[in-house]
Amino acid sequence: MSEERILSPGTFEDDAQFDITLRPQTLAEFIGQKKLKENLSIAIEAARKRGEALDHVLLYGPPGLGKTTLAAIISNELGVHIDYTSGPVLQKKLDLTGALTTLRERQAFFVDEIHRLLPDVEEMLYSALEDYRVDLMVGTGPGARTHSIPLPPFTAIGATTRQGLIGAPLRGRFGLTLRLSPYEPADLTGIVFRSAGLLGVAVDAEAAEEIARRARGTPRVANRLLRRVRDYAQVRADGRVDLRIARRALDLLDVDPLGLDEIDRKIMDTILSKYGGGPVGLNTIAASVGEDASTIEEVYEPYLMQLGFLDRTPRGRVGALPAFDYFKIHRPGGPQATLSF
Ligand code: ADP
Repeated sequence: MSEERILSPGTFEDDAQFDITLRPQTLAEFIGQKKLKENLSIAIEAARKRGEALDHVLLYGPPGLGKTTLAAIISNELGVHIDYTSGPVLQKKLDLTGALTTLRERQAFFVDEIHRLLPDVEEMLYSALEDYRVDLMVGTGPGARTHSIPLPPFTAIGATTRQGLIGAPLRGRFGLTLRLSPYEPADLTGIVFRSAGLLGVAVDAEAAEEIARRARGTPRVANRLLRRVRDYAQVRADGRVDLRIARRALDLLDVDPLGLDEIDRKIMDTILSKYGGGPVGLNTIAASVGEDASTIEEVYEPYLMQLGFLDRTPRGRVGALPAFDYFKIHRPGGPQATLSF
C-alpha cells in the first residue's frame, strides 16, 4: 500500500511483526482519540451488561491510525473471539458464506477494506448484518429456491480508508460509526514513549517529541521512525536517543521537520505554485504529481489538512496561508503583492 512508501527503506515483514508487538491490547492502553474511545467504551459496557452482541462497528480513517488495533481491542474488552478477513479476500458469495457460517455467538468479525467488497458479496452481507441470516440460492432456473441459514448474533467490525465508497445501504447497517483522525503531536509523543518502553530503547522527551512531530499524525509511522532512529543510535552512538541523534537519523531518512515527503511537497507545489493556491481538482493534482487520486485523498491529504495547509472545497483543493509560509511561496494577492503596487 502506498502509505508504506512514505518511509521506504526496510522490509515490510519486519514492519508487520513490529506492528503486532506494539499493538495496545486494551482501550486504556490505546492513546489519543478521546471521544472515539469514550463512545466505544460506553457501547462496550452496555453490550456487556445486557449480555448481548455489540452493535456492528464501522471504522473510518487513513492507514496506520489504529483501525485493526481497535478491532482487536473491542474483542478483548468484550471477551470474545475475533475472526479477520478483508474485502479483497471475500471474492465470492461462497467465501462470505463460509466465513459467516462458522461464527460463534457474540464474536467479532473484522472486515478490513470493506469498501472493496464486490456488489453481490456486499449485498449478501446486508441480511447477515441486519437479520443474522445468509440467503443462498439452491438450484438454477425455474426450480431455484432460496435457502436461509440463520446466524448467531455477532458483531461485524468494518474498516475503511474510503468513506466516500461506502454506500448508504451498507453504512446504515452499522450501529456505531467511528472516525479516526490524524493524532495530535502530544498523543504521538505518548505513543513513541510507550513503544520505546516496550522495545527497551532509552528516548528522552525532546527526542520523542521530534519523532512525533515528523510522524504525519500516524502511529504506524511514529513506530517506524522510532525503529529507524533506534538503529541509528545503536550504530552511530551508544544506543540512547537524544534530540541530536533523533534529528540526524530523521534528516538522513529525508523526513522533513513536519514529516512531509516528496509527494507531499509535489502536491503542495502543484496547488501553491502551479495553480496560485487553487482551487485545483483532485484529478489534476494526481496527474501533476504522478500519484493515484485515491492515494492522495486517503493517505496524503488528511495530514496536510491537519497541518492547516490544505482545504477541500466543492470547487477543488485550496492551499492555505500556513502552507505558503512554510514552503516560502509567494501568495498571489497576498500582502507582498499589495505592497508591490
Ligand atoms: P490501521 O488498521 O488503521 O491501518 P493499525 O491498527 O494496524 O492501523 O495500527 C498500526 C500500528 O500503530 C499498530 O501496530 C499499533 O502499534 C500502533 N497504534 C495505532 N493506534 C495506536 C494508539 N492509539 N496507541 C498506541 N499505538 C497505536
